[in-house]
Amino acid sequence: MAKKRSGARREAERAIRKNPKLFVILLVIFLIVAVVFGVAVWYLHTHEEPENPGGGSPGVGDIVTDELAIYFIDVGNKYTGDSIYIRCGTTDILIDAGSQQASAKAVGDFVESHSEDKMLDYVIATHADQDHIAGFVGTAAEKGIFERFKVKTVIDFPRTNKDLKTASGNDTLYGKYVAARDAEVEGGAVHYTALDCWKEEKGAKRSYALNEEGTVTMNVLYNYYYENKAADENNYSVCLLFSQGETHYLFTGDLEEKGEEYLVQNNPLPHVKLFKAGHHGSPTSSTEALLRVIQPEYVCVCCCAGSTEYTDTPANTFPSQAMIDRIAPYTKNIFVTALSDESKSSGYAPFNGTITVLSDGTNFSIAGSNNSTVLKETAWFAANRVWPRDGK
Ligand SMILES: [Zn+2]
Repeated sequence: MAKKRSGARREAERAIRKNPKLFVILLVIFLIVAVVFGVAVWYLHTHEEPENPGGGSPGVGDIVTDELAIYFIDVGNKYTGDSIYIRCGTTDILIDAGSQQASAKAVGDFVESHSEDKMLDYVIATHADQDHIAGFVGTAAEKGIFERFKVKTVIDFPRTNKDLKTASGNDTLYGKYVAARDAEVEGGAVHYTALDCWKEEKGAKRSYALNEEGTVTMNVLYNYYYENKAADENNYSVCLLFSQGETHYLFTGDLEEKGEEYLVQNNPLPHVKLFKAGHHGSPTSSTEALLRVIQPEYVCVCCCAGSTEYTDTPANTFPSQAMIDRIAPYTKNIFVTALSDESKSSGYAPFNGTITVLSDGTNFSIAGSNNSTVLKETAWFAANRVWPRDGK
């Protein structure tokens, strides 16, 4: 073999000596091959698809733009409540601060770590129930949201059936909320009710542009119960539609069946990309009259799944079987923040955890901080709920 190879080399040397141009041609061919190979390696390296973007399906890693970010905050305790933080560029919005006064820390820390300027441009309190306003008040040990952050504009509910004082003359939680809100107003915040917004009175507006281009807007919808007495506090909820071009996101607080019916009658509602399940996934909200119109693609439920805080009837605990039955024909993309877990001393575990939605209007992603499994594929669902046969 060695003899053969050295023989071949001699042959090649002889050929090159005979024809020196051959050496130049071979060198050029070698260089071309090397350059093409190098470019190919670089291209493959820089255009490689990540194996599992975002670690879940669908995942945060799917898109690079986060023009609009919506976070359904897992407040980290066994009590159901709403708290949704929304960021559009440098505009920060907080819808509600549930579930308990002690949740002020979790909600406040979340805002602190996600807001660029540590300032809330808009705070929306949907209605006067504890699981929506408690965190605005806080505790002796934990500053409430109003005390902790500078707020520019507060938009809240025009009506409530609650009193400011208890029979013994102490402030109720609602009374404390009003005091904390008014202190914020003293400090320079502007305060409107949702009815002021709807009527565009006192400088309030129905629609607020959230970015300079005006491509993302927060729109205050009309709720009949802004102006009329409701037997159920939930029906006083402030209702909001966020729009990003043709992509829409609907938030109705704890609006109940009758409120949803009036909402559909009074507002030209579009199909929505995402709907925050009405009243934590209660059997009495997210009714067919509303769903038929909005046809949601994604549904986020802020609740502690399976908790008996509000009912002992297993099918009616949040997220209720009745709500699932009604949502199922439209989408299987249901996500839930927290889970009741009796094996833990806290009685709580994250379900999907804090749910993060990112969208640039075209590309959309949703992922949970704990996992991104849709409700119907979870162990909790298998043990506690059924998926209707006509579901997606
Ligand atoms: Zn509630």
